[in-house]
Amino acid sequence: MNLHEYQGKEILASFGVRIQRGIVAHNAKEAVEAAKQLTAETGTGWHVIKAQVHAGGRGKGGGVKLAKNLKEVEEIAGQIIGMNLITPQTSAEGKKVHQVLIAEDVYYPGASETNEFYMSVLLNRGTGRNMIMYSTEGGMDIEEVAEHTPHLIFTEEINPATGLLPFQARKIAFNLGLSGNAFKEMTKFVASLYKAYEESDSSMFEINPVLKTSDDKIMAVDAKVSIDDNALYRRKQYAEMRDLREENPVEVEARAVGLNYVDLDGNVGCMVNGAGLAMATMDLIKQAGGEPANFLDVGGTADAARVEAAFKLILKDPAVKAILINIFGGIVRCDRVAQGVIDAYKNMGTINVPIIVRLQGTNADLAKELIDNSGLDVQSAVQFQEAADKVKAVLA
Ligand code: GDP
Ligand code: MN
Repeated sequence: MNLHEYQGKEILASFGVRIQRGIVAHNAKEAVEAAKQLTAETGTGWHVIKAQVHAGGRGKGGGVKLAKNLKEVEEIAGQIIGMNLITPQTSAEGKKVHQVLIAEDVYYPGASETNEFYMSVLLNRGTGRNMIMYSTEGGMDIEEVAEHTPHLIFTEEINPATGLLPFQARKIAFNLGLSGNAFKEMTKFVASLYKAYEESDSSMFEINPVLKTSDDKIMAVDAKVSIDDNALYRRKQYAEMRDLREENPVEVEARAVGLNYVDLDGNVGCMVNGAGLAMATMDLIKQAGGEPANFLDVGGTADAARVEAAFKLILKDPAVKAILINIFGGIVRCDRVAQGVIDAYKNMGTINVPIIVRLQGTNADLAKELIDNSGLDVQSAVQFQEAADKVKAVLA
């Protein structure tokens, strides 16, 4: 689950990480009030207005702007709220901005002495350990740094038995070229950032930029946070931060009916039980010259109601040219699933794309008979390869 910048910063602050302070506003009037309050609290006269959407690169897309007085705050906030923000990380249509963060301007005089770093904490799946990635080249696209100057990106792996050790935080501060008070601040920053990552059950914390102010403070100016969905049951306070407006509506609907659905770009809808079989099925579709339109695991209980719900989800995608149902009848009996497919098909009236069903396992023969005798536009397959060939044929 991804969070907004302001939510990520809230979590950071709760773990003692210094952040660029800000207040969320939903309209221009609230923005002005927020700016006044920040001025009272921090003394800043200048503010940055930052679009709150789940996408990076907001600065490049015109979603982060500096306001030098209250009139500019009102104007800029009014202009950003409601706009469709297009950034290198959004689709061509962009993302609708519902709210902005009014933040204190932290790039105050002495700008030449400020410094932008990059820092993220994430899981290295290769080693199974958490790691801190960091670079002196913050503020800009880290992807670009990785491509052209990879030697400027450092990583520090954390041993789960010991956790982050003080020498590691010092090494990071040293590699970032810091000394004196900034060095000390950075070691504190790293330690509390890591604590925030671990104790919120996050899968990623990306801070870009981490800013060294002209008076040697280290703070998070941006925060991109992703919390592990599987941990949300025990992190209720973060689960409540979910903003459904930012998520794929079909995926939101799937979650509501308890289906594991991930939207993809292809043209073959998949309905499979079990994540392993679902992945194998996606490979098969690719080999047959198609592209999966989704990942969909209907789970162990593929009854008529679930099959129908899954059909409906798949058919919401106009790109779908064929549907491949690939179900292994282990716990569930294949004839039950076949009947479910037939009932769902009849219930839905017209389905305008060819459907290929492969049912293997308990009562597979019976299932094939049911499908073949149903009189519906559904083709049955027994072998995996046979299913692939049929997909190929209907795509041709
Ligand atoms: P992103 O573009 O979505 O990654 O959004 P960021 O929060 O990283 O902001 C983009 C850029 O805006 C930063 O890299 C900074 O250069 C700039 N920025 C952010 N906060 C301030 C601020 O307080 N003052 C000024 N002048 N610039 C800021
Ligand atoms: Mn950023």
